[in-house]
Amino acid sequence: QKCLSLIKKTKFLNAYITVSEEVALKQAEESEKRYKKGRSLGDLDGIPIAVKDNFSTSGIETTCASNMLKGYVPPYNATVVQKLLDQGALLMGKTNLDEFAMGSGSTDGIFGPVKNPWSFSEQYRKKRKQKSHGEKEDSDWLITGGSSGGSAAAVSAFTCFTALGSDTGGSTRNPAAHCGVVGLKPSYGLVSRHGLIPLVNSMDVPGILTRCVDDAAIVLGILAGHDPKDSTTVQDPVKPFVLPSLTDVSKLCVGIPKEYLAPELSSEVRSLWSKAANLFESEGAKVIEVSLPHTSFSIVCYHVLCTSEVASNMARFDGLEYGHRCDVGVSTEAMYAATRREGFNDVVRGRILSGNFFLLKENYENYFVKAQKVRRLIANDFVNVFNSGVDVLLTPTTLSEAAPYTEFIKEDNRTRSAQDDIFTQAVNMAGLPAVNVPMALSSQGLPIGLQFIGRAFCDQQLLTIAKWFE
Ligand code: GLN
Repeated sequence: QKCLSLIKKTKFLNAYITVSEEVALKQAEESEKRYKKGRSLGDLDGIPIAVKDNFSTSGIETTCASNMLKGYVPPYNATVVQKLLDQGALLMGKTNLDEFAMGSGSTDGIFGPVKNPWSFSEQYRKKRKQKSHGEKEDSDWLITGGSSGGSAAAVSAFTCFTALGSDTGGSTRNPAAHCGVVGLKPSYGLVSRHGLIPLVNSMDVPGILTRCVDDAAIVLGILAGHDPKDSTTVQDPVKPFVLPSLTDVSKLCVGIPKEYLAPELSSEVRSLWSKAANLFESEGAKVIEVSLPHTSFSIVCYHVLCTSEVASNMARFDGLEYGHRCDVGVSTEAMYAATRREGFNDVVRGRILSGNFFLLKENYENYFVKAQKVRRLIANDFVNVFNSGVDVLLTPTTLSEAAPYTEFIKEDNRTRSAQDDIFTQAVNMAGLPAVNVPMALSSQGLPIGLQFIGRAFCDQQLLTIAKWFE
């Protein structure tokens, strides 16, 4: 009830696309009955959760914030959703995003942008007023980052305890950083993608947003493991993720990638980053500079691979099987074209066009195949660093704190998105686990997060270090 009333109170944030009030109340009633009989289903019994609107939810509309899927009600639950419900979680609703998770702002969906709850904190409003010399109260607000901005805002505004996001190039970690919450991207293959509407199959992972690292570990423990419906998931049984409460970091080796000292990095993020490194050092950890020499290719490489997979993935939306259909009777091709023109926004259409260009017979070798080779080099950079004895990498998550909406949309959104993902995308290309941990508030009173990157499938170690740091 408390979470539902907070959802109503914070409706202006636009964090939710669908609020499944009836479902949640019914689940809560059943949970209470179990509780009274002492028959809890698991760690999440009775715990309110939210799910990004690109995960299939049985009987509940799943839109991807796109006209293409508006009104689409899936007949099944994504594996991760089912696993949470099997533990007794209460589904509060489906959260807002950039259309088909393409973006870094949560400003580009058909339901409108998500507002960052921190825009309305007293400290921030005061600072804004000081800046404008006490002139009229300004109506601008901050973006949440994205594309899982609805999920990050939902957790940050206390409307649920955990929310699912997705992370293809940073979409869980980026909004987590801007909204001051924990955002975990698990190792690729640890968590099932079945029922997550694909963006880039070879990079997508379900992400976990929570208010503390321990909660993220609990949820990961529930979600991780083999799924016969996703052939890329691990075969080996996964142990529960229990984090020790005290960690001796003195034996750790923390790597600081020198290429991540981007010129666009804000001075505040930079100084917090070195403060964090000093903290590890003062506790006896070895902190060393490392090199990931192919970093400068990562944004371009991501772009080629992402758009190519997008072009292929989006072919399924042809007006026949799901969602929107434009009824032009001239020919089947005309129907496809009109449906896709009406159904997708220009970001999605732009990516389909780019991807099809890279996949043309005459371009395939020069673009797609080359990008795959560069991806291997990028992934090997991480392998080399970890093989040299580094346990974890410490980096910024974003270039700066959350931008005001009017500033964010001023620039070309797609260029801006690309820039913002500089610290996160390479991790997806390498399939590694990474987590955003809130570090401090900026002088403006806004959250700044840092990112830890771990060895593949060492998610437990990564979270243990993140917890120590938290
Ligand atoms: N911002 C990146 C993109 O637009 C990443 C999105 C994501 O992780 N879903 O592709």
